[in-house]
Amino acid sequence: MKLYNSASHREEEFVPNEPGKVKMYTCGPTVYHFAHIGNLRSYIMEDVLEKYLRYVGYDVKRVMNITDVGHLTSDGDTGDDKMLKGAKREHKTVMEIADFYTKAFFADCGKLNIKTPDVVEPATHCIGEFIKVIKALIEKDYAYEAGGNIYFDTSKLDKYYIFGDVSEEDLEVGVREGVEADGNKRNKADFVLWFTKSKFDDQELKWNSPWGVGYPGWHIECSCISMKHLGEKLDIHCGGIDNQFPHHTNEIAQSEAYLGHKWCNYWFHVHHLNTTNGKMSKSKGEFLTVSLLEEKGYDPLVYRFFCLQSHYRKSLVFSWENLDNAKQAYDKLVSRAAALLKEADGKVDAAAFESLKAGFTAAMDDDINTSNAVTALYDVLKADTNAATKLALIEDFDKVLSLGIVANAKKLAAQQQSADIPAEVMELVEQRKQARAAKDFALADKLRDEIAALGYAIRETRQGTEITKL
Ligand code: AMP
Ligand code: ZN
Repeated sequence: MKLYNSASHREEEFVPNEPGKVKMYTCGPTVYHFAHIGNLRSYIMEDVLEKYLRYVGYDVKRVMNITDVGHLTSDGDTGDDKMLKGAKREHKTVMEIADFYTKAFFADCGKLNIKTPDVVEPATHCIGEFIKVIKALIEKDYAYEAGGNIYFDTSKLDKYYIFGDVSEEDLEVGVREGVEADGNKRNKADFVLWFTKSKFDDQELKWNSPWGVGYPGWHIECSCISMKHLGEKLDIHCGGIDNQFPHHTNEIAQSEAYLGHKWCNYWFHVHHLNTTNGKMSKSKGEFLTVSLLEEKGYDPLVYRFFCLQSHYRKSLVFSWENLDNAKQAYDKLVSRAAALLKEADGKVDAAAFESLKAGFTAAMDDDINTSNAVTALYDVLKADTNAATKLALIEDFDKVLSLGIVANAKKLAAQQQSADIPAEVMELVEQRKQARAAKDFALADKLRDEIAALGYAIRETRQGTEITKL
C-alpha cells in the first residue's frame, strides 16, 4: 500500500513499526463551536484511511485528543484562548462548552458514519503528563522560561521545518490580526509549552505547575496524548493541511527532543474544503454544519459521498450545486442497489467478486484514491455478473467507504413496496412480523392466509419480507 508522506514529500510503501499493527494518531477538534463541514472532510478521509488499514488486515489502534484548553485564536501563540471565547459567547463555563461541543462533534461523526477512535482523550485530563514532558525538555536544555511562560527553543534543533519552508510572515499570524507579538521569544519560531497567569488573567482553567499557576500550550497536548496511549513510536499522524505548520512541526520538535529518536513515520494531511469565496470559516459567510445540510434536506451521507469523489490531497470546493450533483449520483446508486435487492437470490460468484474487488483495492492502495474507489463501485454496477455478487461487493467496499448504500436501498425498497400495497395489507404484514418475532407461527400462518385472501403473497428473503400481487 502506497501512502503519501508529507514529511518526505513523496509516496512511500507503508510499513508499520511492528508487523501487522498500526498506531495512528489524529488531531481532534477544538470544542468551542460546532465542527464545520471542512473540519469533517478531514475526519471523513482519516476514517477511510483507518477503515482501509483494518480492511487489509492491520490491527489498528487509533487515538484522538479533544482540545479543551490551550488553542489560541492564532496558531502562533497569540490571541484569546478559543475555549474562553466560546464560553464568553454563550455565557457558560469552559467545561460546559467543552462537554456540549464534544457531544455535538461525535453526533455529527455518527451521522457521517465516522467511527469513534479507540481512545479519545481530552487535554484537560493529561496535565500531569504535559508537566512531566516540559520538565524534561527544560532539563535537556530544549526549553526556557521567559516572562513567566515556558518556551521551546527551536534554535536547538538541526532541522525544524519538516514540511517545507515557512515565511517570516507566517510566523507573525497574530501580529497581522492586530495582536502584540510575543517579545519573550528568543527566536521567532519558538512556541509556548506552558502559559502562566501572566498571559491572561481571566483564563478559566488553570493548574499548579513548577513554573506557576497556568495552562498548557496547544501543541504539547498532542505529543503527550499520543505517547501516553501509543508509546514512543507512532506509525501515522493525521490532520488537516493547516496543521502542518506550526502545530505538527512543533509536535515533532518537542516529541523528538524529548524522546531522543524519530517519533512518527508517516504524516497524512487532508487538504482543505473551501467555499467559492475561499477558506471555510466559522465566523464568515454561511456556517456550514451537518445540521444545516440536514435542514436543507440532504442526507449527511451525501456529503460523505461528495468528499469521497475527490482525492484527499486535492483541495475541494464546496457549493450547493456541487452537493446537488453528488446527491443525484448518490440517489442513483441507492436506487440501483434497491433494484438489485429485488433480484438477488442467486449465489455470489467468487471469481467475479475477487476480480472486481481487485479494482477497489488497487485504487485504495494507491494513496487512498477514493475517487478511483468510487469508480470501482460503478464498475461493479456495470459488470456482467449476478445481483447477489454485486450486492456483496457493494457491502464489502462499504466496510471502508461507509456510504450506507445497501442500508438506504433497503429503506427505499421498503418504501416503494408499501406505496403500492394497500394499508390494510401492510397492517397484516406488520402483525405477522410481530407474530414471527414472538415465535407464534400458528398466528403467522393465519395472517399469511388473510393476506392471500386480500390478493397478496408474502415471501421471506435474505433482504426481508417480499410482498407480491397474486
Ligand atoms: P480544529 O477544530 O480547528 O482544531 O480543526 C479540526 C481539524 O479540521 C484539524 O485537523 C484541521 O486541520 C481541520 N480543518 C480545518 N479547516 C479545514 C478545512 N477547511 N478543510 C479540511 N479540514 C480542515
Ligand atoms: Zn494535534
